[in-house]
Parts: sequence; C-alpha cells; structure tokens
Amino acid sequence: MTARAGAPGTAGGPESMPGPAALVGVLAPFVVLFGLASLLPLTGNAYFGLIVGRAAVYWVLVSGLNLVVGFAGQLALGWVALLTLGAYVTSVLSAGTATPPISPYFALAAAALVGGVAGVIIGLPALRLRTFYFAMSTFGFATVITQIALGWQSVTGGGIGVVGPTFGGPFASTWGFYYFCLGVAALCTWLSANIAHSRFGRALMAVRDAEVAAEASGISKPLLLPLVFLFAGATAATAGGLFAALQSYITPDAFTIDLSLLFFIAILIGGRGSILGPLLGTVLLALLPEFAAPLVAWAPFLYAALLLVIVLLVPGGIARLLDFRSRRPLQTGRTITPDLEALPALLPARTATEPMAIEKAVLSFGGVKAIDDLSLTVTPGQVHGLIGPNGSGKTTLLNVVSGYYRPDSGAVRLGALTLRPGAPQTRAGAGIARTFQAPRIVGEASVLANVMIGGMVRGRASFVETMLSLARHREDERQLRARALLALQAVGLGRLAEIRADRLQHTELRFLEIARALMPDPAFLLLDEPAAGLAADEIALLGGLITAISRLGIGVLLVEHHVDLVFDICARVTVLNLGRGLASGTPAEILAHQDVINAYLGG
Ligand code: ADP
Ligand code: MG
Repeated sequence: MTARAGAPGTAGGPESMPGPAALVGVLAPFVVLFGLASLLPLTGNAYFGLIVGRAAVYWVLVSGLNLVVGFAGQLALGWVALLTLGAYVTSVLSAGTATPPISPYFALAAAALVGGVAGVIIGLPALRLRTFYFAMSTFGFATVITQIALGWQSVTGGGIGVVGPTFGGPFASTWGFYYFCLGVAALCTWLSANIAHSRFGRALMAVRDAEVAAEASGISKPLLLPLVFLFAGATAATAGGLFAALQSYITPDAFTIDLSLLFFIAILIGGRGSILGPLLGTVLLALLPEFAAPLVAWAPFLYAALLLVIVLLVPGGIARLLDFRSRRPLQTGRTITPDLEALPALLPARTATEPMAIEKAVLSFGGVKAIDDLSLTVTPGQVHGLIGPNGSGKTTLLNVVSGYYRPDSGAVRLGALTLRPGAPQTRAGAGIARTFQAPRIVGEASVLANVMIGGMVRGRASFVETMLSLARHREDERQLRARALLALQAVGLGRLAEIRADRLQHTELRFLEIARALMPDPAFLLLDEPAAGLAADEIALLGGLITAISRLGIGVLLVEHHVDLVFDICARVTVLNLGRGLASGTPAEILAHQDVINAYLGG
C-alpha cells in the first residue's frame, strides 16, 4: 500500500490545508494595526506620536515576554528588570560615561546582547522554582538592577539619572524615530510569531499545560526554556534602549513595578498562547490612561479592574473574544472512524526486530512496593497485554519504562541498549511513545497542533533558523503538518483537526493521544487504559486500530481493564498483582490459570 492523497468519499477525509485565504485572515489584523500606526504622522499630532511610539516600545518587550508568560506559563512578574538594564546599557554606552561614547545603534545592539544573557540568568530559577517562587525571584532581580542604577553614580548618574540616547541618521527626527520604533516592533512581532508557530512554540505550551506529555514527546524543558528567556531578555533590553530615547532622560524611578505589572497584565488580558491578543492588550493598556486623562493617576487601579473583568467574564482574554470560529457549534453525535489504510504511510515497514525488555524492575513508594521484581518482554509486531486489579502497579511500570520514574533496581533494555533511568525526554528519540491514563493535552491549541507536539524529535531546524523562518524550518512545518493530518486521519479525527482541543469529547481525546504518540514513528507504543470510558463500538474500533499498528511491526504494551479487548488482540498477557507478576502467557494460558481466576478474573 502506498500513501494516498486524501480519502475520497470517506466521511473522515482530511481537512484542507490552510490556503492563502486563511493566511490573509491571520495577517490582516497585524497589517491593519501597523498600517494605521504608520499613518499617524499624517495627523501631525506629536503627542499621539509619543504615546503610540511608547505603546510600540512596550510591545517590543511584551512580544518576547509573551513567549515566557503566555506560551510557557512562567510567571516572570519582574521583567521590568530587563527594560531597566537595556535602558541603562544603551544610555551609558552612547553617553560615554564609562567608555568612549559609541553610536546609539551599536549601543542598542549591545543592550540586546546583554539583555539576552541577563534574561537567561533571571530565567534559570524557573527550572527549579515553581510559579510564585519564580515570580518572587524575578522581582528580586528587578530590585537589584534598580539598586545598582542608584548606587553606581559615576556611570549611571545615580538618582539624578543619565541622558537617553539620541538616534541619528534617517531616524533622527521625532517621526523618524517613531518609524524606527514601529519597525522594531514589527520585526519582533514577526520573530515571536515564527517561534510561536513552530515546534518550539508548541513545545512551550506543552510544558505549560501537559508537562509529562511534553517530556514523553522528547521535549526537554532545561534545553527549551533558556532559549526563550534569551529571546525575551533581548527584546526587553531593546525595548529599554528605545524607551530611554523616548524619555530622553532616565532615572531609576522611571522603572516601577507598576510598569512590570502592565506588561504582565497585557498578556493576561490578551489571552495565553496568542500573539494578536497580547498585542491588543498592550496597546489598550498603553493608550487607555491617555484617553481618560483624569484617570492617569488611577492607572494601576484601572489595570487591576480590567484584569478582574477579563478574568471573570472572558477567561481566555481578548484572543478568545476574537476566536469566532470556535463559537460555531460542533456537529453532535460525531463518530470516530479510523482509516487504517493511512497507517502504512505513517509507520513505514521497519526491519529492526529488537525486543523491549523490562528486567527485574523494583520500585517502592515508602513502604509500598508498587512493582516488585517484575520482568517482561515486548516483541515487535505484537500486542502485549498488562492486566491486574487497581493499584497493582500497571501505570507505575509504564512510568518506569517511559523514564518518568527511576526504578530502585532493574533495567529497561531495547535490544542491547540499556535506557537511561529517570530521563523521560530521551524516550521519544529512542523509539518509545506513550499515552496517559488521563489524557494530557493543550486545551487551547488545535487538535492538529496537539498532534504536532508529538513530532518534536522529527524537527531539524534550530531555534535561530525557526525564529528567522528559514527554509529548513518551513520544511519542518510542512512535514509535521502533513504527518499530523495523516495521523489524525488514521485514528479517525481528521475532520476535527482545526478544532480547539478542549472542545473534544473525552473519547476523542483518547484517540488524539494515540495520534500524537504515532508522530515520532515509534518502535514501541505504551497505552495506559485507552479503552476507559469508551462505548462498546468504540472499543471495537480501538482494537482494530491497535492491531493494525502492531501489524506494521510496532510492539505495543497495552494496560487495560477491558479484559475482552485484551484477550482479543494480545499475543501475550502479563497479570500483575500487588506489583508482582502473577502469570504470563498466551490469552488461552492466562484464561486457564487458576491463580489468575482466583485473584482477578473471578472464578
Ligand atoms: P495501577 O495503574 O495498576 O492501578 P499504579 O501503578 O497507579 O496502579 O499504583 C501502584 C501502587 O503504587 C499503588 O499502591 C499506588 O498507590 C502506588 N503509587 C503509584 N504512584 C505513586 C506515587 N507517585 N507515590 C506514591 N505511591 C504511588
Ligand atoms: Mg493505572
């Protein structure tokens, strides 16, 4: 069988690829916003120029911070630290208070560099500290940088301050500099959108909403987050340099915690996982106090009120308000129709025949031996069933195999290779994929994007190539997308590809997880109770799907409570009881095994 172009006539045909029309729809709001802003000089109103210019500068910072907060879910509350740093580095270098004065353009580039490094340093605690503790640590950095600016008088001018840079050349005039700010803002929008709509951006959302699934897909948080902190640090420091030029004179008290909250709230009211939403949020917060002049003193109160209203009334923020497509009702009574003929193109025939062996695995939690001296071998091309009462250690065993738990003793081997214990992010690359007992998905992302998360290890383009949308990145995206559509067609969710994942039914999520697990082209597939909550006809479809997957040479380890399904499709079955292997054999042998009948099947 060969890959087919679509499935003519079937109800579950793949969604059409987004054509130029869809792209225009995505770009239009940005073109309109930047277009309007670039017409502003026609009004000749320099005051408007100043506040819209400032909004653009704020957005330069927020465009990067958005990836940290809105995509990766890291509460970097004190990001004003990097604005401060960038403002001082640009001003001090171009004023020449520490070195011979250099061109403000070079000073700005230097600030971006310093900001990138500082962003990584300020962001690093996020790998260890959770939510509020990380938020507090960023506040700490903000205070430290302000104190240095105050104390290092010979360079920063202390409380008296330092003159901001004056950009020369074509951007010297007021409106010239305004266009410079708009240009940098447009550039940052493009760069951050490239990252957001890539495997890196999807990986960030997976880290935020489904960390375990992210790891199982080969996403390494310690490798990923520093890249984004680098980007967010560089954009924030660039914003600082521009901010200093707009202010023309900077003192430490220009960089308040209020300002930091403004950036953060702009992202929250804009909506997580969106670019347009936070852009509108930033513009709104920057302009609002100006159009309600008597309210300027009340600005922080205004922001707080706005945040409260949004959180209470539209939890998804501006992005959700603008997401008209998701308000269209979904077809009810949907059926899942797997298309098994799509599988061979997805999982090409494999030659490797190395089995996966769990050898004498032991793992205790406190006094409880969750698995106790357990060995079993999964053969490629076969389904191996794992059954046992609740709490008998089935999920724990999958967690040991997938590297989430480190066993007290024993090993997991792929042929001659021993898998590194306690390193879940290495499994996808080694050819082991899994699903979860409770589906782990990114609710705000589309079904398609969720499946594409599973293809992380297949991407080739580096972070920089991705950020600049170079050829290798575009090829990655094209392939991942085509592959994800094929996987969705195979599991029978092709028609739901563009739907937000949190709108799916529970049963559909189980199939979605299988599609995601097929993305890396795994040699072994671990399924944790995939039939839980499914209706009888859906279980039959699932059985057919698992069988078809195994026939392509994949070894499946199936944890399941529906023993009918297990005895139907498994070549071998292992029965667990209190973490120990009670019996192992063919379905016929297990069904006749007296201990199993007594302990589990009920005699
Ligand atoms: P099953 O999937 O077969 O229902 P589990 O593998 O989830 O069983 O659990 C096996 C045993 O290990 C249970 O007694 C459970 O309470 C215990 N257990 C599992 N995970 C943990 C954990 N993270 N901490 C403490 N105990 C755990
Ligand atoms: Mg379980």
